[in-house]
Amino acid sequence: QLKDHNGYAAISSGFDTFYQRRLYARIRDAFNRPITAVPGRTVTLLERTSKDQNRTFELTGTKREVLNLSSYNYLGFAQNTGPCADAVEVTVKKFGISSCSSRMEVGTTAMLVETEALVARFIGHEAAIIISMGFATNSTTLPALVGKGCLVISDALNHASLVYGARVSGATIRVFKHNNVKDLEDVLRTSISQGQPRTHRPWKKILVVVEGLYSMEGSVCNLPEIVELKKKYPFYLYLDEAHSIGAMGPNGRGVCDYFGLDPKDVDIMMGTFTKSFGAAGGYIAARKEVVDHIRLHAHSSVYAESITTPVVQQIHTSMRIIMGEEGGDDGRRRIHILARNSRYFSTELKKMGFIVYGDVESPVIPLLLFHPAKIPAFSREMLKRGIAVVVVGYPATPIITSRVRFCISAAHTLEDLKFALEAISEVGDLLCLKVSRVKRNDE
Ligand code: PMP
Repeated sequence: QLKDHNGYAAISSGFDTFYQRRLYARIRDAFNRPITAVPGRTVTLLERTSKDQNRTFELTGTKREVLNLSSYNYLGFAQNTGPCADAVEVTVKKFGISSCSSRMEVGTTAMLVETEALVARFIGHEAAIIISMGFATNSTTLPALVGKGCLVISDALNHASLVYGARVSGATIRVFKHNNVKDLEDVLRTSISQGQPRTHRPWKKILVVVEGLYSMEGSVCNLPEIVELKKKYPFYLYLDEAHSIGAMGPNGRGVCDYFGLDPKDVDIMMGTFTKSFGAAGGYIAARKEVVDHIRLHAHSSVYAESITTPVVQQIHTSMRIIMGEEGGDDGRRRIHILARNSRYFSTELKKMGFIVYGDVESPVIPLLLFHPAKIPAFSREMLKRGIAVVVVGYPATPIITSRVRFCISAAHTLEDLKFALEAISEVGDLLCLKVSRVKRNDE
């Protein structure tokens, strides 16, 4: 075990230290670089300077604009021009940028109340609450819903905020294999008292927690089968749509829309505004009594500053555009372009012989790099060619399945994507990432 200079156990584990010192901290390409403009279709990074040997950046150094495949700007609303930016500018002038108060004090604006009603309508549930941070939405809502004596059944690849919330709640946690409904059913069957099929006994409550679109895998939750399981086993279902809301389904309403399911079949619908809406914060949409309970019991609702009004404005305007209530067919056009871009990009990568994970319509596209040493090399080579990408490895993924995650946006043009594909092909050859396809008998 690592010790600090006083001989106490070091805060970070050996693996954490190894990776922070030797890997992630060394990546100075798109990673760890200060940006100096909107993270939109392109992003502007500071170039290295002589001072960089000390791992600092000359903040007045040369700037370089590169194609951005690294931000979760799925529908292109992060841009600082257009209807959202115009509306936000007016709101900043009117309200300033801070709430200076929690919800229950004087932090609830009329626009926030109105936007919560809009979110409920968009998601298709009775009520909704907006919380100022997506991470806190999960990590403080779960402890408000479950506690000691309850059972949380969690997908193996759930996001850190869900894992954290489940742990803090004090509930018992059981994990099922990623997106494997048979394994989920096994966990349910062996966790529920025999002969008491319609109660949660011996647990006070059973909560199954899944994501709509898993951002490390690009895999879409097998929601139809999980919803079907509800007919056989008693449990509540919690769905995190951070990456799917706005980005999936013909109307941008997430995985229920994608599969044609009724959102009311999911008890707790959670999502964030940091991706498709170009804003910040998270929401919970559910039955009114559940939302009222969260308002009173989630620490982020009671003890934290409420979401700021310009951010609420960004959510409000972008959501109304997606719903077609503002901006004519702009929302529909963005949803369509995102689906087309995502499909095109992952199909072309597969044709080139790369190992690409995920659903063909997922806007986050993981391409396998395998060896951790290829993480910084891929990032560096892409930046040389004018493209910013995000690379991920342990502990976010297993050590030998390090990967790059391309984030596709409706703001990308087909020319942008072709330019990126050419660069990826070159880098793929350089780093031996293309696996020649072996045809299976049934193909
Ligand atoms: N849930 C999931 C599935 C996420 O991927 C993330 C962050 N990317 C969050 C929650 C946290 O949201 P935020 O970044 O908006 O705080």
